[in-house]
Amino acid sequence: MSARILVVDDVPANVKLLEARLSAEYFDVLTASNGAEALQICARAECDIILLDVMMPDMDGFEVCRRLKSNPVTHFIPVVIVTALDSPADRVRGLEAGADDFLTKPVSDVVLIARVRSLTRLKMMTDELRMRAITSLEMGMQAPERSAIADKGLGGRILLVDDRPSSYERLAPMLSAEHTVDVETNPGEALFNAAEGNYDLMIVSLSLDNYDGLRLCSQARSLERTRQLPILAISDADNNARLLRGLEIGVNDYLLRPIDKNELLARARTQIRRRRYTDHLRDNVQNSIEMAITDALTGLHNRRYMESHLATLAEQASARGKPLALMILDIDYFKAINDNYGHDAGDDVLRDFATRIRKSIRGIDLACRYGGEEFVIVMPETDLHVAGMVAERLRRSIAGEPFSISKGVNRIEVTISIGLTTLERKGESVTDVLKRADNALYRAKHGGRNRVVSAAA
Ligand code: GH3
Ligand code: MG
Ligand code: MG
Repeated sequence: MSARILVVDDVPANVKLLEARLSAEYFDVLTASNGAEALQICARAECDIILLDVMMPDMDGFEVCRRLKSNPVTHFIPVVIVTALDSPADRVRGLEAGADDFLTKPVSDVVLIARVRSLTRLKMMTDELRMRAITSLEMGMQAPERSAIADKGLGGRILLVDDRPSSYERLAPMLSAEHTVDVETNPGEALFNAAEGNYDLMIVSLSLDNYDGLRLCSQARSLERTRQLPILAISDADNNARLLRGLEIGVNDYLLRPIDKNELLARARTQIRRRRYTDHLRDNVQNSIEMAITDALTGLHNRRYMESHLATLAEQASARGKPLALMILDIDYFKAINDNYGHDAGDDVLRDFATRIRKSIRGIDLACRYGGEEFVIVMPETDLHVAGMVAERLRRSIAGEPFSISKGVNRIEVTISIGLTTLERKGESVTDVLKRADNALYRAKHGGRNRVVSAAA
């Protein structure tokens, strides 16, 4: 995992120092001596993470950060502000500019490498998701960056795991100013609640009585349901070793006691925003997968999906010695429906037809739109006789109940013809099966339509 780190500082000695430390850990290092140069490098997508000095002539680090975070092209690059300014107010300023993290000069080696590693992991994951989401962007979905930039990170659901009343009685009201907070005083229950509660952020005190807060963090990271849940650790000062351990196991951020209210709120907002952004990316990927296998008009599977899945079903049936039935259904004189009532009415019929198909098949059956007004149903563990009864029931359910079109203004009679067959022998190609069903359909059409014809073996 060799990330490219951009170090931005107007003092050459500072640049050299960070460059040497990062190179020693096998990171690729790029450097820039002012904000404008840094913005250009980022816009060309040449770096994975930015270490950004605050005090620079012309444009200060906060401004550089704000510009990076408000540009969809650079929004997702993690920014670490490296600063000698270390009051909570300065940190809040940086977080409000959109910074992901802070390092205080002089920068400790261990902390530097731990933070850069953890942000590298985050960046790699986001890159992977963005790459997959690009397909859905090409399909015209909204770019997740746009809503991420607009999101202020407010109104999140937070689980606060803390068993000291003196602590949570202070923290919970602070957080409640912007979020909904549940306090969990029993660390043993926390993991379960984190998994069930649909939270945007878990805040864990590392000073629990008789319980190791880091263990909870590590369990949360290994459990599927909580793997993506951001964790903010709260630690007593001077506990560097444990904090570093926490970062290694996947704690996203931390705060030291005494807690400054504004900094707590700013860090919570940053984590919640980031969580929503990656969730959004993940949803986009999910959507694009669904779009790739679904027919948009009817919601049934599309032909591409059916053909690849049919091969799997046929192999399974052969291997287990079970029958597999397949039918092709074609609406009779569908062209006339379009011609007489319009294309939209034709679409209404196709949608309603798909709904009726869904109602008459089992969960394990596979229904798809094969072409314009042609549909295919594949039925595992079903022989020709049973499939014939299903087909006949379906035919009757179409012919027996007129279709309403044009928002219910009209009702029209529709019939279908069905060609039916089964997988005949082990290893038979699905193309042959489909062809046999199609021949049967042809005979049904020629025999007068509105009928089921089974292919002879
Ligand atoms: P047959 O009984 O022989 O099957 O006659 P048919 O008219 O149903 O068959 P044909 O294949 O001649 O016509 C199919 C028509 O389906 C032609 C095409 O315009 C129409 N069609 C294909 N896809 C869609 C669609 O998505 N929406 C609508 N409304 N019509 C479609
Ligand atoms: Mg037709
Ligand atoms: Mg046709």
